[in-house]
Amino acid sequence: MKKWVYLFEEGYREIPAERRRDLLGGKGAGLAEMAGAGLPVPPGFTITTEACNAYFAAGRQFPEGLWEQVLEALHRVEEKVGRRFGDPQNPLLVSVRSGAKFSMPGMMDTVLNVGLTDETVKGLIAQTGDERFAYDAYRRLIQMFGRIVKGIPGERFEHILDRYKAKTKGKQDTDLTAEMLRDIVEEFKALYRKELEEEFPQDPLEQLRQAIRAVFDSWFGKRAVDYRNFYKIPHDLGTACNVQTMVFGNMGFDSATGVAFTRNPATGEKELYGEYLPNAQGEDVVAGIRTPLKITKKASQEWAREHGISEEERRLRYPSLEERMPETYQQFLEVAALLERHYRDVQDLEFTIERGRLWMLQTRTGKRTAKAAVKIAVDMVHEGLITKEEAVMRVEPEQINQLLLPRFDEKAKERAREKGDLLARGLNASPGAATGHAVFDADTAEAWGRDGRPVILVRPETTPDDVHGMIAARGILTQRGGATSHAAVVARGLGKPAVVGCEALQIDLERKQFSVNGRVIREGDFISIDGSTGEVFAGQIPTIDPNLAEERELAELLAWADEFRRLQVWANADYPRDARKAREFGAEGIGLARTEHMFFEADRLPYVRQMILNAPEAQRLMDQLRAAQQAAQARPDDPKAQKALREAERAVRTSKAVKAYRKALDRLLPVQRKDFEGLFEAMDGLPVIIRLIDPPMHEFLPRYEELLAEVVELRTRIEERRKIKGYRPRKGEKSIRQMEEELAEKEALLRAVNALREMNPMLGLRGIRLGILYPDIIRLQVRAILEAACNVKRRGITPKPEIMIPLSADVKELQIVREIVDEVAREVMAREGVEIEYKFGTMIEVPRAALLAAEIAQVAEFFSFGTNDLTQTVWAISRDDAEGKFLLRYLEEKIVPENPFQVLDRKGVGRLMRMAVEEGRRTRPDLEVGICGEHGGDPSSIEFCHEIGLNYVSASPYRVPVARLAAAQAALKERAARIETR
Ligand code: PEP
Ligand code: MG
Repeated sequence: MKKWVYLFEEGYREIPAERRRDLLGGKGAGLAEMAGAGLPVPPGFTITTEACNAYFAAGRQFPEGLWEQVLEALHRVEEKVGRRFGDPQNPLLVSVRSGAKFSMPGMMDTVLNVGLTDETVKGLIAQTGDERFAYDAYRRLIQMFGRIVKGIPGERFEHILDRYKAKTKGKQDTDLTAEMLRDIVEEFKALYRKELEEEFPQDPLEQLRQAIRAVFDSWFGKRAVDYRNFYKIPHDLGTACNVQTMVFGNMGFDSATGVAFTRNPATGEKELYGEYLPNAQGEDVVAGIRTPLKITKKASQEWAREHGISEEERRLRYPSLEERMPETYQQFLEVAALLERHYRDVQDLEFTIERGRLWMLQTRTGKRTAKAAVKIAVDMVHEGLITKEEAVMRVEPEQINQLLLPRFDEKAKERAREKGDLLARGLNASPGAATGHAVFDADTAEAWGRDGRPVILVRPETTPDDVHGMIAARGILTQRGGATSHAAVVARGLGKPAVVGCEALQIDLERKQFSVNGRVIREGDFISIDGSTGEVFAGQIPTIDPNLAEERELAELLAWADEFRRLQVWANADYPRDARKAREFGAEGIGLARTEHMFFEADRLPYVRQMILNAPEAQRLMDQLRAAQQAAQARPDDPKAQKALREAERAVRTSKAVKAYRKALDRLLPVQRKDFEGLFEAMDGLPVIIRLIDPPMHEFLPRYEELLAEVVELRTRIEERRKIKGYRPRKGEKSIRQMEEELAEKEALLRAVNALREMNPMLGLRGIRLGILYPDIIRLQVRAILEAACNVKRRGITPKPEIMIPLSADVKELQIVREIVDEVAREVMAREGVEIEYKFGTMIEVPRAALLAAEIAQVAEFFSFGTNDLTQTVWAISRDDAEGKFLLRYLEEKIVPENPFQVLDRKGVGRLMRMAVEEGRRTRPDLEVGICGEHGGDPSSIEFCHEIGLNYVSASPYRVPVARLAAAQAALKERAARIETR
């Protein structure tokens, strides 16, 4: 005969540990293990998941032998507790609960107090001497049984209950008297009769049989099916059913109920942490009607101090469990310690004390904050409880991000709250804390930021035009938008705190202020935002900038992670200060320095513009000259060729454009050189990948529409003045002549900007294409890189430059650029008399480059996947137009499982990557391959990068620790999978 039913301790003895959850479900396995360890668990038994499956296979019939085994197990339980099921004098009551292999919170059903009838309720009164308690238990049974087993809508019971509650003073469940509850029981039974045309079962065994069936049936209830579909849990696992003796924490003041963690889940401190309520049921703790008391004396005293309660009053009115029931408390401490040792992790415990006797109801892994997760994992290794590998696997990479971001001093924040400075709450879009002057437009943010004033940019929402202000700001606050709005996405990318969608703000851009709850914040006023909680405060709150060395436990955990990972972790950093931060966080190189960021700075932008505006004409003349030189060389006796050469030479010599272009390049050289020296210094001895200019030119120029408006306005003003006879400018005004000159200048600029306008700039003249058209820009940058390398090397620093070309799609493009790079490098090294080893490589960020990786690797010594652009080009989706707009629908409709710009699309983009790695390495076995798109800091994407054998991932500095942990986890997971398949 098949065994369908296991007493808890049998489950422990007879089922091997690895099968227990399959057969007994999570809850049943936990009960079996607690019982097996000799802990005080209310006796009971588990009906297996196999029985559930057999029940469905037989068309919702109990399989053969099941009911007999239930009766037998029940009998054994009766013997243990010394009460009989259905005994009118001393009845045993049980709970009947579902419990699947995977926890499905709230999805399945429970019936409590099974075994109560008109007869046995009297026994319960006799047992407890508490009539109110007994009738309350009985009415709960009828209500739960009616609703869960029989499907009577719950509100019909609630109506009756509400009617009685209305008659009491306090209007609460707890105000109902024993008589009232007895009447309620009668009304509930009548309701039951009316709804079902049958009586509420007075046979306890019938109650039990039906409750078990209901638990099985709930496996295919709609909620449960939907839940499993969502979480991809198979439907054929079945649920187990746990039948367990009821214990009551509300049997007087020697009874209690409570919850506890074996360690502090907020800080990770090794101390029992929990609360209890005397004379109460589990639900009362959850419902929060009464103030729970602390379990330990220490916590109780702390609590009293915080609430200004004297020690005397505390001992009298709010005693700890430790003081009230010292022996039970000691026993509970031992149980807690034992469970933690057994599960080798923090346990979240539920317990009940019935007349001085401790009963354990549940144990499960305790949820914890990031800080606690790290501390607990590290402490447990030192205690010899777990291995380093386990510790590394136990902390969510995403969690540790929070630990290293600037945060508010908690005490100061609390004071601000007490002062009423908490203005509003929005969406916590990008973690970290910031304090600064409120400003309402990007230009002001940039200007103030340049002056070294901390600012917070406040906008109704942000657009790409605001990015320069966002870069300058300490934090970003918006009124509209969600987690994937422009503000949220850009802020996360920049690693800046942001609170978005803060609807309570009323922003008045004209007056440069916002108001909230009648309070007005003007430009320049201090505000503070907490991007981790979404809180917005008036005034300044001091921030703490954590550093890894001070986060001792985290540093230790990460050092262990480094022992396990195969992927290196580099960082994306454009400035020396970012590079230093990255290094402090453990970066082993720079995977991407975007040189154009440096171009945006105010002292350089004029020269960048001068370079861009003159480049087309200057380059045309220089190209002409080169052609003429070649022709003259080929035909030295041809006077025509010689004449053409002389003319071309003169054209270049006298051209304003060429002069301006060269001057701009000359001005930019020293500043770029200085930038690169800073990076090499910060990364002494480590590789630094510098990417040559990438963005479309128009990004550096004034906007066409704005220029056009200015030109039109100027023209109208001139015409108006002309109409006035004998017009003379007043003091401080420009003359018409001056205005005409200004107009001519603006018109020329407008023509130039117009000539550079593109329909699809992101697919236009950018990346390597700029280098093909304007090789002098590349020469400038390469010269700056190499000269910087020579300079720092002379100072004893080891520069390791790697020159990276963006957006290439064909090997010929790279050949052309490589020749230029090598030529300039040779020239600089010869002139400086210093030898520099450098690498030449390319980003792989368009599909064609990935497809032709084998060819590209002939010229490129390294690849770096630019998965931002690669995702855009593989999907043909423009990120700026999609995020916060139609992509949201795609997520809702589950067309994409996750935002492909955050979590790498393994199926599409990933497939191209895998192929490119394989083919590239076939050409060049030592090809260095990494990733520098935003995905380089995302744990799931990092796992994939590990799988396809990249050498490194490159993430923003603050995400370097996240990446170190994620890379270690990827390696450990792979190791575990290998062991399993062996
Ligand atoms: C990329 O495309 O992934 C990349 C890193 O370059 P950018 O974001 O600068 O376009
Ligand atoms: Mg790119």
